[in-house]
Amino acid sequence: MSISQITVLSGGMGGARFLQGLLHGIASGSLPGVAPDARVTVVANTADDLWMHGLKICPDLDTVMYTLGDGIDLDRGWGRRDESWSVKDELAAYGVEPTWFGLGDRDIATHVVRTQMLDAGYSLSDVTTALCNRWLAPRYGEGVRLLPMTDDRVETHVAIADETTPSGRRVVHFQEYWVRLRAAVPAEAVVVVGLESSTPAPGVVDAITDADLVVLPPSNPVVSVGTILGVPRVREALRATRAPVVGLSPIVGGTHVRGMAHQMLTSIGVEVSAGAVGLHYGSRSTGDDGVLDGWLVDDRDADQVDRVRAGGLACAAVPLMMSDVDATAAMAAAAITLVTGAGAGGDE
Ligand code: GDP
Ligand code: CA
Repeated sequence: MSISQITVLSGGMGGARFLQGLLHGIASGSLPGVAPDARVTVVANTADDLWMHGLKICPDLDTVMYTLGDGIDLDRGWGRRDESWSVKDELAAYGVEPTWFGLGDRDIATHVVRTQMLDAGYSLSDVTTALCNRWLAPRYGEGVRLLPMTDDRVETHVAIADETTPSGRRVVHFQEYWVRLRAAVPAEAVVVVGLESSTPAPGVVDAITDADLVVLPPSNPVVSVGTILGVPRVREALRATRAPVVGLSPIVGGTHVRGMAHQMLTSIGVEVSAGAVGLHYGSRSTGDDGVLDGWLVDDRDADQVDRVRAGGLACAAVPLMMSDVDATAAMAAAAITLVTGAGAGGDE
């Protein structure tokens, strides 16, 4: 069967880089069994979203949009290229808090458009489509669709130790934990406010149900993919879809590559290893709530393969560093081969 619909559940940077490679692989015909005009639907995490200076900011949606639309700052990995920071400097001169979140001048325009549309009554899905008309439609036509996981307000908060409070704990927004505190203190718990009562955004459940392939890219398993899986009906859709579901480990060589997957995994009691993350997602065939058929780990984690297979998942070890689009497309190809058998050259 030819794969013509691929759905990817994405966070920000890791997801966006994977998507670049996936799209490169589709365009160059290097993905086994994938139609040259295959369409990709991205379901993006929105639990990192925040309001700041009266503006609605959606870091993961924007990272995917700017990356695929070639507007991303490649060195930082977030925000706009050729950015300037006049508004931020002016706000600081007024002493307006918070000062720790980097809002660039170009980027602010995106947030102004988004906030205006939300204020006018449009949903986040509608707003995202409108923003993508600038960034994605000219490059990909109908080939790439970006959906927020939900239109509802969902926010990840992190509990950290604070001796000055009666409880000895304090809860901060995920962005404050990550950007201001630089994830330097242990995350004692992760609480995703509003998640259980949220509704999948229009198209999200269908994108999973009607897909020919679903991919969990190497995004943060707790605060990116974990939150998407927590939206009611998403996990059920993954368990029910006829499409194979395959994931790629964000843990390489026993640790995170960038970001803070290690702190987040520790906070939910999952060992920081490629095998443990795959088993945390779980197998659709043997587990009660597992979502995967296959799990790719990096070459350096080849010792994890047996344990993942014992958990009911197809598993292989291949290079998983997204150093350029060709390397990343090869990862996508290996993921497809793992769960479809297409393109398998050897006896495996
Ligand atoms: P965020 O929302 O910007 O934090 O991005 P994601 O959640 O999409 O991705 C973050 C994850 O990507 C981190 O946990 C990293 O370990 C992982 N990551 C980043 N670069 C690479 C890479 O080259 N290879 C792999 N396997 N994982 C990566
Ligand atoms: Ca994120």
